[in-house]
Amino acid sequence: MANAALEHHNCTQFEKAIIELAPGICGAVGFAASCVYMIEGAKSVTIVDTSESTRAAENILAEFRQRTDKPVGRIIYTHSHRDHISGASVFAPDGNVPILASSSFSSDLVGVDMATIAPNKALGRRTQAQFGIGLSDAERISLGCGPGNRPMQGLGAGYLPPTQSIATDCDIDLDGVAARLIMAPGETSDHMVVFLPGTRVLFGGDNWYHAFPNLYAIRGTPYRDFAAWAQTLGMLAELGAEILAPGHTRPVFGAGNVCEVLTTTRDAIIHVMRQTASMMDQGLSMDDIAASIQLPQELAQKPWLGEFYGRIDWSARAFAAGTLGWYDGNPTHLGTLSSQQRATHLAQLAGGAQALMQAATSTEDLQWRLELCDHLLALDAPAHHSQARLLKADAMEALAEDEINATARNTYLWAAKLLRQVPGDPEQGETA
Ligand SMILES: [Zn+2]
Repeated sequence: MANAALEHHNCTQFEKAIIELAPGICGAVGFAASCVYMIEGAKSVTIVDTSESTRAAENILAEFRQRTDKPVGRIIYTHSHRDHISGASVFAPDGNVPILASSSFSSDLVGVDMATIAPNKALGRRTQAQFGIGLSDAERISLGCGPGNRPMQGLGAGYLPPTQSIATDCDIDLDGVAARLIMAPGETSDHMVVFLPGTRVLFGGDNWYHAFPNLYAIRGTPYRDFAAWAQTLGMLAELGAEILAPGHTRPVFGAGNVCEVLTTTRDAIIHVMRQTASMMDQGLSMDDIAASIQLPQELAQKPWLGEFYGRIDWSARAFAAGTLGWYDGNPTHLGTLSSQQRATHLAQLAGGAQALMQAATSTEDLQWRLELCDHLLALDAPAHHSQARLLKADAMEALAEDEINATARNTYLWAAKLLRQVPGDPEQGETA
């Protein structure tokens, strides 16, 4: 079972298709986690982004070859996320095709540019969970930004580094097609979008897709600059594009529609910033902010602001942490109880570990059940651990069925599977 809105999003946004944007310009949607675009020039084509695997890139190139056999003249990366740069070698098999990217390219590629000391094992584990690596196609129905069911052969294998760094906005010629490259910090700080003034097609990278923006990715990301992203969306709206070709999900046609999706997404980000700041100013706890924040009705009803990929409560937490850091202003949190100390106190209050187990089993509040299971697993009471693991797995699977957010769904199911397979909680780092 899966959330009906998430299933609908997956069916409507990620159905495999080659979509013509304008004469000589088309995009491949649903072949991979991300979209790949082709712009036909006089004697060559330009490829915008390359997907996440060599197999997906091969499938896409085969489709493009049915339209033209002109050679690939250049590749443009909109940003450095791996799902956009890992099929390049398929489009440039000899490695001698110019590859253009922003001069700040890769600044957000966690694990590559990061300092040597970094939680890379944690990042790897959480990335697997977010994308549901190892789940069946029936379980992993969606990535939120792409179809769950897609080829995985050659995942991450076809990356080629950029050969031309673009430092500022500039006009370039794509073999007879005029284009403007525009620095557009948003989901990443190294975003560079492509605008074709002739056909008014805008290749926006991941600064917009048909889902609430992933202002925080639960695999783990540095702070994404909310203000810069909102500002960029406003700037893109003013370009007057007729067609928006996003890095994920289907294109948007019509100047009015393009303007509306960009400005309302900008407004949603600004709303989260304002609301979070206001509640922080009032001294609310982070849990109370996350539990209560929502979009105003006029934004909440926009289909493209559904929380299929990003989530509003996570965004509020990210904004709080990104602006004032981890401390929430409550002096209680200046000190720390270990998980075991806290669980021991709670078990004493409840009347012992068995009573805590009884409470976890009988409550109908699944979130509360998860929290009680965590306390049981933290207790020095191994006799209860096996039952607590199964109880936690059951609760996560039940939550996954209703969850509209694909990354949360995948993470619940991934973690539940691990809990059933081996002793230990994946979030405690005992396994995987
Ligand atoms: Zn992407």
